[in-house]
Amino acid sequence: MARSPDDPKKENPDSLAGEIGVQGIEALPRRVDRYGKAKKDALDMADFISQSDDPQLQKVAQRLSTCGDYLVFRHFYTIDQVKLHGARLCMKHLLCKLCAIRRGAKYLAAYLQRFELLRAGNPRLRAYLVTLTVKDGDDLKERFEHLKKSQQELWMRKHRGRGSPLDGVAGAVWSYEVKRGAGSGKWHPHLHMVVLAEYLPSEDYQEGTLGALSAAWHNITGDSFMVNVKPISQEDPASGFIEVFKYAVKFSEQSQADTLHAFLTLRGKRLIASSGAFRGVPEPVDLLDDSEALEGLPYVTLFYRYLPGGYTLNPPRA
Ligand SMILES: [Zn+2]
Repeated sequence: MARSPDDPKKENPDSLAGEIGVQGIEALPRRVDRYGKAKKDALDMADFISQSDDPQLQKVAQRLSTCGDYLVFRHFYTIDQVKLHGARLCMKHLLCKLCAIRRGAKYLAAYLQRFELLRAGNPRLRAYLVTLTVKDGDDLKERFEHLKKSQQELWMRKHRGRGSPLDGVAGAVWSYEVKRGAGSGKWHPHLHMVVLAEYLPSEDYQEGTLGALSAAWHNITGDSFMVNVKPISQEDPASGFIEVFKYAVKFSEQSQADTLHAFLTLRGKRLIASSGAFRGVPEPVDLLDDSEALEGLPYVTLFYRYLPGGYTLNPPRA
């Protein structure tokens, strides 16, 4: 379902919603504005990191500070679609909000496409959004590994074939997210997962009941039965997928020191994984838009340069 350009979710800088829906030229100013704010955030982060004495971190700060200095869009005007065609991006999605937005958008598009294919093959499949958490703790690395191992064990129980709350699940894709727990102030890693099944036992999404999934999760983690399962809208599946592919960290809700700590702890780790029918969706090779399908169509190039205060459109060359 296309979202209206006035959808308030689009104004949330931490939301991926603005990246989907309206793709025409009318949506470009908001899009560029969103990227400009993200770029400003990345510049502030680069400033923070550049205070470090570590030469490696100095390099990271340098890369971060030039990320998205320019953006090249192509407007395919006969079909009114705008595609991000060129940009030098730092790819450090744990530090850079601009790269985090683009990474989320790429994954979102790839997995939604797979989802539509699967649903066309079996219209009885339903998508559910499942959130799994472990107990908050001071040691992010230890807590993250605990969550990851617990998730692996949950799936192993399905594969062993001796009865599992995931029996009947056709496929799933999930992502790890870390933030500070609202009450504890300690690290709170958790995961959001889209689960595809004809039916997931409803007991797990009736408040106050310990369902089969909660019980298994508690048995595995030893410290959490926190499981949330809710059906994803059939009409607007993107709304559920957005939860999975949003940022791995909440930039606007944490200090720069926490962002840096999460980067140093989680870099190089696989933060998005899949199982079953969602396996084999290709990883995005870059963070630009795919426009192969539009090849041969006429377009106008729009070149934006970042100046203090935001992106400015360069006058088109004669
Ligand atoms: Zn970047």
